[in-house]
Parts: sequence; structure tokens; C-alpha cells
Amino acid sequence: MSTPPIPAPALDALRDLFGADRVKQNVPLAPFTTFQLGGPADVYVEAQTDDELAQAIRIAREHDVHFFLLGMGANVLVGDQGFRGLVIRNAATHTEIDADAGTLWAESGAIMYPTVINQAINAGLSGLEHYAGIPSTVGGALWQNLHFLSPAPARERTMFIEEVLQEADILTESNERRTVGVDYFEFGYDDSILHHRDDVVLSATFQLDAGDPERMREIVEQNLEWRSLRHPPLDTEPSVGSIFKKIEGIGAGRLIDECGLKGAKIGGARVTHRHANIFVNDGGATAADLIGLIQYVQRVVEEKTGYRLETEIGFIGQFDEPSEETPTFVPKDPDLVTAADLAKKRQAQANS
Ligand SMILES: Cc1cc2nc3c(=O)[nH]c(=O)nc-3n(C[C@H](O)[C@H](O)[C@H](O)COP(=O)(O)OP(=O)(O)OC[C@H]3O[C@@H](n4cnc5c(N)ncnc54)[C@H](O)[C@@H]3O)c2cc1C
Repeated sequence: MSTPPIPAPALDALRDLFGADRVKQNVPLAPFTTFQLGGPADVYVEAQTDDELAQAIRIAREHDVHFFLLGMGANVLVGDQGFRGLVIRNAATHTEIDADAGTLWAESGAIMYPTVINQAINAGLSGLEHYAGIPSTVGGALWQNLHFLSPAPARERTMFIEEVLQEADILTESNERRTVGVDYFEFGYDDSILHHRDDVVLSATFQLDAGDPERMREIVEQNLEWRSLRHPPLDTEPSVGSIFKKIEGIGAGRLIDECGLKGAKIGGARVTHRHANIFVNDGGATAADLIGLIQYVQRVVEEKTGYRLETEIGFIGQFDEPSEETPTFVPKDPDLVTAADLAKKRQAQANS
């Protein structure tokens, strides 16, 4: 008989906090991730306020419960056997705007787009519109230091969410509630203190500038258009965005493309033709398929180019052995127009 994953006193404390019906067992995590795959959590709760989130985490820590805090699940691959322990999904989504002060306060489970970004735009507050279309909670955005290119046509630099963060309420890894400023986060590219300390963001305040809503909506439209040419739509081709870390000046996607790996498919997992660094769940993919494909791509790229690709996503829970199937190759849909196709067309027009 296996050990119960969560001690009874911890379950009792969670039931006291949430009510018995909100402490669920054996809950499939696939619907809570943008990959739409992965096994069940032994125990699952949804925190609906920042206080609930803080208390749930305190309970888990005090009882030594193995736990994971899930945002939108846009940067994680959950193992097929699921998660042995407690998954706390962040559904704390309250927001408040102070238009005079130019600030937007949001609980950390608030969804960046469309919710938070549209609220800011409607209030005439600018600074968040650049991140339209990126699936993320506010907490995930600080964890990641959410980033995207500056507006078209120049797109001359990468913009980061740290640029508009004023402060955040956190639960430190020693269970203290504190308000911290931007410097605390030690933001980097795809990096923040949250990768290195078990602090949890409970809420964040963004300091925004007065702006023209029409111009902001234009930026949103242009960014969504940019994404639609490069990123598969999540509803029909679930993904977690880029699988591998950026290689400065070279590009992980470019290496994969140059190795002829677009369209490589193992089980239900496939390298998309839209962007070689994005792998999609073609329907029925398992985490074992995904890991088999990741390892295959790493092996081929290393053999052919000498570069070792490193994954940038989180691997959560228990995994089966990776699939060792030999990949098949799915040809590009002739109707699919990618950013690369448009660039080639523009080049041909310029040369003619
Ligand atoms: C199609 C697609 C396109 C993408 N494009 C971009 C892009 O252009 N730019 C970009 O930067 N990213 C991009 N991403 C990556 C993704 O959107 C980010 O990593 C996002 O910030 C993840 O947020 P989340 O809420 O889903 O976090 P999750 O995936 O749920 O969690 C990720 C990590 O953050 C931790 N975490 C979550 N909430 C908190 C919190 N409140 N406090 C502390 N830790 C927390 C989790 O525990 C976990 O370790 C893309 C992803 C997809 C699927």
C-alpha cells in the first residue's frame, strides 16, 4: 500500500480553509494547461483570492506537502502520471484601477490578455498592451518577466513587464507577507528571483502612462497579427510557446529549421511548420510523446550543428519513459501562410 500523498492534518486544514467540496482529489490537469495534456493531481484546490492563495501555501509548507502553484499552465509540461501532492491553481483574479494615479492593481491569478490588458486600455492606461496575445497570469508574467517586441514597424527592441511593474505583494519562502519593489525581482531575460526562491506573488501593481486607447488597440491588433503568423492557435493546436531557450544571435528555432525538423511528429506531438521552436499537441499527445520529440530534436541538432538545445519549460509531476518511436514527417499544409513565406514573397517582390 502506498503512502497517502498528503497527511490527514493538511487535508483537514485545507478543508477548513476552502470547504470540503473545494478540496478535490484526482483532478486531471490537462484542461488547466495550454498543452492540454498531463495526468491528475492527487489533491487540487483553486485559490480565489490573494488571501486564500497565501493561506493554502502556508498550509502546504507547514505540513511539508509537496505542492505546485499553477497559473495558466502556459509554460509547463505535466507528466502523464500526474502530480503526487497538492496543486494550487491560482484563480485570484480581482483587479482595481486608479486612473488618477495611473495604476492597475491585480491579484496574481488575473489573466493578462484579454482581461488585464483590456481593462488598462479602456481606462486610457498604456504600458501593458504590448503583451496582448501572450497566455499568462499576472504571477506567471512576473515569474517569466514577460516580454515582447516594441511596436511595429520598427520593432527595434524587446520590452519587458518589469518596465511597468511598480510593486508586488509576495509571500516569501519563509511565509512572510511583504510588499516589494521592482529591484527585488532581479529580472532578466526569461528570469526573475521567482526561479531561484520559493516566493509567491499574491498581487502586483503596474504603473502605467496616460495613452490613447485607439493607438493601444492598434498595437494590440498588430501584435495579434504578428503572433497569428508565427504561433499556432491554442484552441486547435495546443502548445506552450517556445520549447527551447533562446540562443543569442543564432536562434533555437532557426537551428531546428535548418536541420529540417519542421513537421517531425512522434505520437500526437509535432514540430509546427509555423515556428520550429514550438511543438504542438496534435490531439491525443502524451507527455511521453513530447519528451520523445524534445530529445529527438536535441539529438539531431547537436549532431548536425554542435549546439545543445536547453528546454525552457517546467516539467511538473511524474513522467513515463519518453517515447522512442521514430518520427514521421508531416508536410506543410499548402494553405498555411507563415511569416517566413511572407518574408520570401517580399524579398521576391523587391528583387523583381
Ligand atoms: C502560444 C504561446 C506564446 C507565448 N509567447 C510568449 C511571449 O511572446 N513572451 C513571453 O515572455 N512568454 C511567452 N509565452 C510563455 C508563457 O506565456 C509565459 O511563460 C507565461 O508567463 C506563463 O504564465 P502562466 O500563468 O501560464 O504560468 P504557469 O505556466 O502556470 O507557471 C509557470 C511558472 O510560474 C510559476 N508561477 C505562476 N504563478 C506564480 C506566482 N503567482 N508566484 C510565483 N510563481 C508563479 C509556476 O509555479 C511555474 O513555476 C508563450 C506561451 C505560449 C503558449
